[in-house]
Amino acid sequence: MANKQPKPKLILVSKRGTKVDAWMHCDDCGYRYDLLWSYAKSNRGPVLLCGVCKGLAFNRSFRGKKVDAMYRAVQGGRCDGNRKPR
Ligand SMILES: [Zn+2]
Repeated sequence: MANKQPKPKLILVSKRGTKVDAWMHCDDCGYRYDLLWSYAKSNRGPVLLCGVCKGLAFNRSFRGKKVDAMYRAVQGGRCDGNRKPR
């Protein structure tokens, strides 16, 4: 029986990445780059990503929706400036 599983698509948990200025392999595509981004939280644990895979992973992971919801949550708490007393 073939036991080969396709790699799970990389999903980032946190948007917080660190720039890595060194010749390293991208964890997703496997190519070597001299500038990568390190993400501590993903569905694969800590990963190093090149610019291309970083963009793809961001699209896959966040897609705008979540961000929007978060912004609303943040802003919703403090938008009572225009509220009129009854
Ligand atoms: Zn890559």
